[in-house]
Amino acid sequence: MPVSRPITIVTHPLYLAHDTGGGEHPEAPNRLTALLAKLQASPLKDRLTIIEPRKAERCWLTTFHAEHYLFRLEECALSGKTHIDHPDNQLCFESYEAALLSAGAGLTGIDLLEGEENLVFCAVRPPGHHAESNLALGFCFLNNCVVAARYWQQQYGRKRILILDFDAHHGNGIQSAFEEDPDVFYLSLHEHPTFSFPGSGYAEEAGTGPGRGATLNIPLPPGADDQLVLNAFARRVEPALAAFAPERIIVAAGFDGHRDDDMSGLAYSTELYGRLGEHLAGWAKKFCQGKLLSILEGGYHLESLADSTATYLTALSNHSIEEEPCSSPST
Ligand SMILES: [Zn+2]
Repeated sequence: MPVSRPITIVTHPLYLAHDTGGGEHPEAPNRLTALLAKLQASPLKDRLTIIEPRKAERCWLTTFHAEHYLFRLEECALSGKTHIDHPDNQLCFESYEAALLSAGAGLTGIDLLEGEENLVFCAVRPPGHHAESNLALGFCFLNNCVVAARYWQQQYGRKRILILDFDAHHGNGIQSAFEEDPDVFYLSLHEHPTFSFPGSGYAEEAGTGPGRGATLNIPLPPGADDQLVLNAFARRVEPALAAFAPERIIVAAGFDGHRDDDMSGLAYSTELYGRLGEHLAGWAKKFCQGKLLSILEGGYHLESLADSTATYLTALSNHSIEEEPCSSPST
């Protein structure tokens, strides 16, 4: 009988203080409230440990972000401005500290994964994958996945990192951080940029210079369903992973491709996120001793966000990383 694996959730009450103006803004505190309530009410609850992150130290933030941008972001928040760079990126007095804690969740999670833990999910906001080195974009201020990858490399010497991004939108900030880097493989499935924010992530964008081939964009047409994604996993993702052989995997876990989420035209079911969890747990077992870091990105329909996250984590938890017993010789 397989034993369900424990999961550590890294989250912080201050994430709820990041106020995006109330009203109609989709990146709202109730996203995390709904997600955490669902996990606590699900059969997963007995397998969860919830811990608080530390703030990301400046030396890790500046592995990607420009100093002048960090000062500008802090000043915008503390001086009472309501947005930075674009009205989409609403902030408040607490937003800079919340962003530091959001970037810090990945670092705290990595410390745990380099110890005894092997499944960590960072339930954070603000999200990160659109943030550029000197620009806030798409509700993102600090690029949580980029900072985590740099930390894993530089603090723990894990050289070859895969970042798999299944958010409905292309993670332009992750791509721009690593497009010349052959050691970080950025793999994104997203709605085709012709139809979707932020307008990058064409299949032709495959990395540059020494990083050529270490970026794989798989744009999907509006209406893309589970089968298209699973086919892409079998035909494109599996071979790319086998060739790259990552030492560690980070998942940019966005749930806005769900058919009920109107932030994209994709039509994923809740069950798809369970299938993605099974694949990821299998790859983590094969390449990374079962260790996997997932960081929340998008997902704006509260019920489907909560259900999809629970389905994803249940699949990760149920996937055994024990070696299969040798079958006895047939007679
Ligand atoms: Zn998204």
